[in-house]
Amino acid sequence: MPDRVEPLVLGSWPTPLEPAPRLSVKIGLLPADLWIKRDDLTGLGGGGNKVRKLQYTCAVALANGATTLITCGAAQSNNARLTAAAGAHLGLEVILVLAGGHDSPTTGNLALDELFGATIVWAGDADDIDMDARAKEIARELRHRGVVAEVLPYGGSSVEGARGYADCARELLAQAPDLEHLVVAVGSGGTMAGLVHVLGTTKVLGVHTGAVADPLGRVQVLLDGLADRKARSGEHTQIRLDLDQVGDGYSHLTPRVREALRLAARTEGIVLDPIYTGRALAGLQAAVAEGEVRPGQRTVLLHSGGLPGLFGHPDFGSVARSP
Ligand SMILES: *Cc1c(COP(=O)(O)O)cnc(C)c1O
Repeated sequence: MPDRVEPLVLGSWPTPLEPAPRLSVKIGLLPADLWIKRDDLTGLGGGGNKVRKLQYTCAVALANGATTLITCGAAQSNNARLTAAAGAHLGLEVILVLAGGHDSPTTGNLALDELFGATIVWAGDADDIDMDARAKEIARELRHRGVVAEVLPYGGSSVEGARGYADCARELLAQAPDLEHLVVAVGSGGTMAGLVHVLGTTKVLGVHTGAVADPLGRVQVLLDGLADRKARSGEHTQIRLDLDQVGDGYSHLTPRVREALRLAARTEGIVLDPIYTGRALAGLQAAVAEGEVRPGQRTVLLHSGGLPGLFGHPDFGSVARSP
């Protein structure tokens, strides 16, 4: 494989940075403070943050001669859906190893996975490490039959994938040079790592979603990889991470997130999702309440996508209904 592969162009760039004055006031900031970086509008496959990562990971897959992409995730994984879309766009086969079984409802992301023609392999109640092992096993089996398959990491979060968010950070600096806070949901960590790599630790506030057990460790390993240095223990204490928005677990819709979804929808006409971006806004609200983000500070909320996940969520019907 060549040392450094040029990324593909799979999405529409740059994504808009839009003001959100009504939402800004509702959360306790001044009207001009809050802006939304619309990485839900990345184009391919319904959009979302995984498109920027796939531009790098798919470039590597093609350079390796792959004709099949394999990745793993939750049944409602946005990354699985966008991998399926990228594969379709590039003429590659896609195999998705997903947590759950055949009885998983074919809604939201899962319905789109099938629409994009991906093959689903059900992994049962596996955690992401088990699923990754299963994905690698499938790749080995294919290799025996002469098929070159590339295994893309859980959430697209390899060092290579995280480079997509270093790109986003540079794009954002051109749009908002006076940026003071950037709030981002943290799943597998590559998005935050890429942003911190360019913007530094003080500007980026990550909001843990419960997708992984050790978000700090994940982000730190990717940051070290991006900086091309060996891991240095203890250094990650500088990373700003809100660990209080997980509630009863990753896939659970918390009352604060339900409120955040309603607030964004009713002040700006913007739809957030129950797993990631809803938590990011709830985390921003908490940071304002604690005085960590203050009126007068230019603040950007990264809208990382996830709309299909809202349609695939069991509580979707109750999100808008009162009380
Ligand atoms: C995957 C995802 C995230 C988190 O990104 P990571 O790089 O995995 O931390 C945030 N928002 C949405 C909508 C996602 O699908």
